[in-house]
Amino acid sequence: MSFSHHSSFTAPASQVVSFEEARRLVEQQAADVSPGEVETVDLLAGAGRVLAEGIIADRDFPPFARATRDGYAVRAADLAEIPARLEVVGEVKAGDWPEPGFCTVGRGQAVGIMTGAPLPAGTDAVVMIEHTSLTNRSVEVRRSVRAGENFVPRGAEALAGQLLLDRGRRLDHSGIAIAASAGKSRVQVFRKPRVAVISTGDELVEIDAAPGPAQIRNSNSYSLAAQVQNAGGEGVQLAIAPDERGRLRSLIEEGLDCDLLLLAGGVSMGKYDLVEQVLRELQTAFYFTGAEIQPGRPVVFGSCGAGALARADDESAAKTRAGAPAPHKKYFFGLPGNPVSTMVTFELFARPMIEALSGMKPQPLIFLKARLKSEIQTKTGLKRFLPAVLSGEFENAEVELVRWQGSGDIAALARANCYVVIPPDRERIEAGEWVPLLMR
Ligand code: AMP
Ligand code: MG
Repeated sequence: MSFSHHSSFTAPASQVVSFEEARRLVEQQAADVSPGEVETVDLLAGAGRVLAEGIIADRDFPPFARATRDGYAVRAADLAEIPARLEVVGEVKAGDWPEPGFCTVGRGQAVGIMTGAPLPAGTDAVVMIEHTSLTNRSVEVRRSVRAGENFVPRGAEALAGQLLLDRGRRLDHSGIAIAASAGKSRVQVFRKPRVAVISTGDELVEIDAAPGPAQIRNSNSYSLAAQVQNAGGEGVQLAIAPDERGRLRSLIEEGLDCDLLLLAGGVSMGKYDLVEQVLRELQTAFYFTGAEIQPGRPVVFGSCGAGALARADDESAAKTRAGAPAPHKKYFFGLPGNPVSTMVTFELFARPMIEALSGMKPQPLIFLKARLKSEIQTKTGLKRFLPAVLSGEFENAEVELVRWQGSGDIAALARANCYVVIPPDRERIEAGEWVPLLMR
């Protein structure tokens, strides 16, 4: 059964698109998915999770004019001529509250102050201790300061009621610090999407089994589950699917109970590459069945279920449902089985879908640039993501391809820390040229 005639959304029998178009198609679908339910967790358990609520400043940040140096709180006008001598009328350390009655600083006076302490009334700057000498209750100041120097005014970072972190943002350590500062000991986050992982291939055995002479251990289910976790999902490893329709189909149906299905292997042109054929037997829409990239050209992206059909049948009808995705629509990726291809295509295409399902706002794919250490010769026609090592400290970064045996070579990939990205029209890139990198 094929639904390729229903709309522009559905790929014809084979639809190979450019990398950019493939990414756009994923982003377009990802924009429509809804995240799971909201749950409330202890702040630290929220690390790496996506916020389902905005974090609001519960008070001004900072809540008082906060000294950023150890020294003396002064009136800047008193230091118009230096050296100047000021009377020391008190001391405020971090945690002290300088009551205006107790500690008001007049002309010619100063107060000892520590980093993190509130500025006393009457002062408008802090002079660093390094530029002063104290004798009895009198301090000599050898440097002038401008009003406003060496403290942060109350509310300068954020005012009470202001949004500090938006919903849809993943909590990293800086987000955790903000939530902690705002008194959020518990935070609302989205449930992690459950992502089914199926590896296919008659040659595969479980990792704790002794492989026969022509068998290999199933590494893809593990690398994928780890990547899923890293992208904010929960990997659900299903059994290895043999290259046989019936069993493959029942595993795919099982996988479609999850929020997203990832298949690895069986998407190439071989006689036993059955994934695409079996998917076509289900209610399926394909957005692409290949991308002009290497590694990873046979990558497949589609959706299954009543929702997929409705969407493929009539895009505008789907839109009139107020943008809400149909309840049973499930997305899937058929990733090529060569382990490096599996990993690269996951990062390029599956990650944004998982991030969307976890409630995250869309993230751009970020490319850095570095100088190429030695020339690269390649063939045109595909956008290449080649494992490479970025090295050199400070401003001396340079990048070099790792020697590899092609997209099955996980040992080479483990030595790499990035991919050099080569546009499809380049045959040769000279040493010294700036090349785009995708970090991994
Ligand atoms: P396929 O995409 O099924 O044609 O597989 C391409 C290559 O990747 C073959 O050499 C497979 O043996 C290998 N491969 C496929 N699946 C896995 C897996 N789960 N773990 C390790 N290697 C795999
Ligand atoms: Mg295979």
